Amino acid sequence: MQTILGQVFLTISTTGTPDRPATDLGFLLHKHPDRAQAFSTSHGAAHVFYPEASAERCTAALLLEVDPVALVRRGKGKGRGGAPDAALAQYVNDRPYAASSLLSVALATVFKSALGGVCRALPERAVAPLPLRIEVPALPARGGAELVRRLFGPLGWERVEVAQVALDEQFPEWGASRYVRLVLEGESRLADALRQLYILLPVLDDAKHYWVAPDEVDKLLRAGEGWLADHPERPLITRRYLSHRWGLTRQADQALELVRLAESDDLDVDSVDNAVDESTDTEEKPVPLAEHRRTAILEALRGAGAHRVLDLGCGQGQLVQALLKDVRFTEIVGVDVSMRALTIASRRLKLDRMGERQAGRVALQQGSLTYTDKRLKGYDAAVLSEVIEHLDLDRLPALEYAVFGSARPGTVLVTTPNVEYNVRWESLPAGHVRHGDHRFEWTRAEFREWAAKVAERHGYTVAHLPVGPDDPEVGPPTQLAVFTLTDTATDKNNEKKKGAEAA
Ligand code: SAH
Repeated sequence: MQTILGQVFLTISTTGTPDRPATDLGFLLHKHPDRAQAFSTSHGAAHVFYPEASAERCTAALLLEVDPVALVRRGKGKGRGGAPDAALAQYVNDRPYAASSLLSVALATVFKSALGGVCRALPERAVAPLPLRIEVPALPARGGAELVRRLFGPLGWERVEVAQVALDEQFPEWGASRYVRLVLEGESRLADALRQLYILLPVLDDAKHYWVAPDEVDKLLRAGEGWLADHPERPLITRRYLSHRWGLTRQADQALELVRLAESDDLDVDSVDNAVDESTDTEEKPVPLAEHRRTAILEALRGAGAHRVLDLGCGQGQLVQALLKDVRFTEIVGVDVSMRALTIASRRLKLDRMGERQAGRVALQQGSLTYTDKRLKGYDAAVLSEVIEHLDLDRLPALEYAVFGSARPGTVLVTTPNVEYNVRWESLPAGHVRHGDHRFEWTRAEFREWAAKVAERHGYTVAHLPVGPDDPEVGPPTQLAVFTLTDTATDKNNEKKKGAEAA
């Protein structure tokens, strides 16, 4: 019987300097440049060899011989009803075999230590960027060259060259194949480059044929460390890498969101607001805008008769601290996604030294507001002070549902900057938002429109209040919306609950 072997490969090159020979690449990859080596992987044999290995220039090649028979056999064992699935058939029919998830698996098997950034011989080289050139001559790319650029473009490479491969070079009139030739050039840590390929090759392939186990999420998070959380194509990457499995994708996204927010939390909103505030008022000592905001929120909470209060996106705990000073607030829960912010909040509140009674009134907990959370149900009021503008607009409906649809407190207070007022901040260049992490800032009309829809969708009424000096032309610097759950909505909810209990 004839066995057809498909071959897929990639090359990794580096250049050397007098004190750093290029052949160090062999140490970093844990594969000696003088020897060709073969490894068996579950899909066929992988070979590592060095087409060139001098002090000036060194290239390592990884070649995978895909064994279609082994593939089909594996597929039969695992596939539904014993039939190899369509994606598998595609692999078997793909000739020449292109770089794919198989190559990614081989990469992780053969260069395991390098992927982990481990090198006992040259530890300092393993963690330092080196001049790299990576070439994948035939990369199957669903989404074409354009998507390849979107995926590798934001990763800091100096050159990302993507060329569509012709279906058959001898017959250019046949047009382009679904493969591209990819060349990446720039300074990068070897481990980072390998991790990017490990994730992005199967993402581009989008036909990962093997069973996606829950530990794929961990693999994704580990290999994505340092570059995935912030990647503009993150949703597509997680979705495709996890083979469109919604539960796993959601899990990965939640974890990555926590990472991103923890990283972007390095700016202190209040200090920025206060600095801007001070520049506008020269006569009396200005009241910081943050203090105006807290006063307005406290008044609204008292007005609503709230006792048990959630501070959602509590940041460093200034509002929680103010709430603690008023005994009418019997239970105060601060929630934030950033561990760093919560640690600072806990220090500010001196939680560890608090008397038992005080401590019994307050809790800080980590959580993301874009996911429903049972712990948030049943409170009198929730505050979202300067939080919504930190979310991407397309995540806002998720927060809306988690707060107004699921937690459903009697009162919800939302504050957000009024972008019209920005012209009054002398230090703020035109068209700029007030804080580096603001994803958007709204006009009064935009905020009212959003608030009205939210209220209508979830059975609340809404009233708007100014915070800070209300400018006749551009309005106040901060806008506050007070949402109140209507009785009929509460009744409906109770009925539903009763119905569920009875059932
Ligand atoms: N409420 C505070 C802090 C506002 S800064 C104040 O008024 O001063 C915004 C805060 O929202 C940050 O602490 C940030 O970590 C938090 N945050 C942003 N997105 C979040 C999310 N999805 N879930 C929970 N907290 C979030």
